[in-house]
Amino acid sequence: STFGDLGLKEDLLRGVYAHNFEQPSAIQQRAILPITQGRNVIAHWQEQSGTGKTATFSIAMLQSIDVTVRETQALVLSPTHELATQIQSVVLSLGDYMNVQCHACVGGASIGEDIRKPEYGQHIVSGTPGCVFDMIRRRLLRTRNIKMLILDEADELLNKGFKDQIYDVYRYLPPATQAVLLSATLPYDVLEMTTKFMTDPIRILV
Ligand code: AMP
Repeated sequence: STFGDLGLKEDLLRGVYAHNFEQPSAIQQRAILPITQGRNVIAHWQEQSGTGKTATFSIAMLQSIDVTVRETQALVLSPTHELATQIQSVVLSLGDYMNVQCHACVGGASIGEDIRKPEYGQHIVSGTPGCVFDMIRRRLLRTRNIKMLILDEADELLNKGFKDQIYDVYRYLPPATQAVLLSATLPYDVLEMTTKFMTDPIRILV
């Protein structure tokens, strides 16, 4: 299949092609459509990087948000500041024609800086769990319009000890929030999280 078969919005499709993606990768072919249809998705693989997972959930998020609503609608939790920032740049690049706002919440920003650039005007927020929870607690990130939670590198999130912060963030999300989990491995604590956060998930092995 092609990106054109995925039913993407015109301005998003333009961004995908401008990003020099010609064909969707295996995970993109299998995961983008169910995510945009609202399904909870668990994606995992034996092969390490290079699958195109970041673009998979970035395209799905961009397809699912309404840019005319200036509220946070999708949240990505990832294990490192570097990854959170990379995700932000992929989202901004793919969403180049969409007028999308995406904030990387990676800590270290001064309070003054946060006030100048309030997260609640950002369609998508990408950050480490501790930082995101801190923004929620300080009311700089409104969660009422969040429809989608992405847990990227879920096994690494748990290896790094973020479990409590992930559950803290989850408690602030609307009850019907869609969840997408990506993980190289599916150990017990990752599976436990999927049963807590996801009803009737689709499991995709790449
Ligand atoms: P990731 O697995 O998300 O780290 O992506 C690995 C690399 O594959 C990145 O450099 C992406 O830009 C690239 N990539 C992702 N999807 C595609 C695609 N459909 N066509 C070409 N390159 C892609």
